[in-house]
This record gives sequence, C-alpha cells and structure tokens, in this order.
Amino acid sequence: HAKKLGKNNYQFFTPEMNSAAQHYLKLEHHLRQALELGELVLHYQPQVKIDNGCIIGMEALIRWHNHAMGIVMPDQFIGLAEETGLIVPIGAWVLRTACKQARAWQLAGMPIRIAVNLSGRQFHRFQDQRQLLDVVLDVLKETELSPELLELEITESILMHKLDTTLDTLNQIKQLGVRISVDDFGTGYSSLSYLKRFPLDTLKIDKSFVKDICTDANDRAIVSAISAMAGQLKLELVAEGVEDQSQLDFLGGQQCNYGQGYFFSKPVPAEQASALLRQSLLGRQ
Ligand code: C2E
Ligand code: MG
Ligand code: MG
Ligand code: MG
Repeated sequence: HAKKLGKNNYQFFTPEMNSAAQHYLKLEHHLRQALELGELVLHYQPQVKIDNGCIIGMEALIRWHNHAMGIVMPDQFIGLAEETGLIVPIGAWVLRTACKQARAWQLAGMPIRIAVNLSGRQFHRFQDQRQLLDVVLDVLKETELSPELLELEITESILMHKLDTTLDTLNQIKQLGVRISVDDFGTGYSSLSYLKRFPLDTLKIDKSFVKDICTDANDRAIVSAISAMAGQLKLELVAEGVEDQSQLDFLGGQQCNYGQGYFFSKPVPAEQASALLRQSLLGRQ
C-alpha cells in the first residue's frame, strides 16, 4: 500500500505497520492501568547450589495477566515500559513485592536470596531522578528484609554508560549491604576491566552459552574460561538456562557453583515457590 505515492502524499504506515502501531498503542493503554488493576504478578525461579541441590535464592520474574490479552511475558512489555517511563513505578512495585516475599520466607525460617532484575534504561531513568537508591532504601526499611538477602541483577550495558555516576550509585547500593550481579554475562559489549572497577558479587553466564555446552567445544571453552576467571576474582557464578543433567554434569566439573533453569524448576507463582523451598530444606536434613 505504501506504493507509488504522489508528491506531497505522505503515507508512513503500511497496513502491517499500522496494525503493529495500533497493537503497541493498545498495549501502552493497557499497561498504564496494569499496576492499578493489580494485573502484574511475580513468578520465582530457584537458584540452586549444584553440588547439593539446595535452593540458595529465587529470581523474581514479572508476568502480566491482562483480561483482554491473556498472559503477557516480560520480553513483550518491558521495552514499552522503559520507553514510556512506566518502568519506574513498575520497577518499584517489583522490588517491593519481591522483598516482601523474601521477608516472608526469611520469617518462615527460609532465608534465601531474592534476585530482582533492573534493566538498563530502568537503571538510568531511576538514576536521573536519583530515585533508585531511595527506592531500595524505602523498600528495605518497609519490608525489614536483611539487605544481604537482596541481589540486584544488572546488565553489562549498565556498566558501559555514564561510568562515574553508575559507579557511585552501585557503590552506594553496595554500602547498604545489597548484592549486585551481572545478568546475561558474556552477551554485552563491555570490557572486562569493569569486573574489577565495579562492586560486583555474582556473574550469571548467559543461557546461550549453556544451551549447547555438551556438544559445542567453543561454548565449553567459554564457560570454562568464565568459571576460572570468576573463581580468581572471587565472584559467585550462576549458570542460566540449565535444562538437563548432562549440562549440569559439565558445570559441576567447572568452578561454577550455582545453576538456574528448567532442569530445577520453571519460574512459578509464590505459593509453588514456597513449596519448592520447604522441600529443599527438608532435603538438607
Ligand atoms: P533474565 O533476567 O535473563 O531471566 C531469565 C529468563 O530465562 C526468564 O525469562 C526465564 O523464564 C528464562 N529461563 C529460565 N530457565 C530457563 C531454561 O532452562 N531455558 C530457557 N530457554 N529459558 C529459561 P522471562 O521470565 O521471560 O524473562 C525474560 C527477561 O525479561 C529476563 O531475562 C529479564 O531480562 C526481563 N525481566 C523479567 N522480569 C523483569 C522485571 O521484573 N524487571 C525487569 N526490568 N526486567 C525483567
Ligand atoms: Mg535476570
Ligand atoms: Mg539472564
Ligand atoms: Mg536479561
């Protein structure tokens, strides 16, 4: 349809683009109400110590249950939330909800870590408004969660922009006792020098390296190298996307102590996560 348009006859959208744009507008309209309507939900996925199978943490992963659209996954709306700025209130909600849950587990005698994702644009939007630290402080105070049970998952891209302010912010967060991990490690374009510049606790090897670890010699080499490096730098290492026993066997032979993935459990609602935790604790005795 965008064919042969006469002069001064601007037609920006093909029908396909138009419907994509309409879908986007609809999504935005619904997302603006999602928080008020209580449509956002957190699921939790265990992070497991490989040598004994115990759960040491849970990653909080957002889902959106919309009456018209059904279950919407984060990859479909986090980008939009970032563009519209909605990521700020949504991010604060995620942090508060995850910390409340972790505090409940702590009080129930199951003091595990809670990992909360912070996207790049979310981090910088917060930072511009000097809000991030305030929100973290508020939430810790309100929920009474021990700070060392909170781990913020940031991406390599966060470590590449506005280095000085980012370093300040991360140092301040670190001073609260909160842990910092690098998500999807190995997929960004950042330099390795940030590993010593920033106050990091954990690296999460991206699942793309773990996927073919049993058959692909390059992936094995990469994971071995990352494991050795993390060990030397005294960083904890979590392998993402562990789906079967043979991947786990390889990882167990490396200095990779923790795993996360469908092999252990998919992300599940809080109730089910609590049951997994109780089971894990029983197994320990
Ligand atoms: P992520 O932080 O790297 O989270 C891991 C993703 O891998 C999750 O997808 C999880 O369901 C999936 N996963 C876990 N185990 C396996 C496995 O064994 N195999 C495979 N193929 N996938 C596995 P999900 O929940 O769709 O989240 C996608 C991304 O959305 C997350 O990637 C994170 O970057 C972002 N995200 C999720 N929740 C939040 C949030 O609350 N705030 C922000 N800013 N981003 C979020
Ligand atoms: Mg993550
Ligand atoms: Mg990841
Ligand atoms: Mg990610």
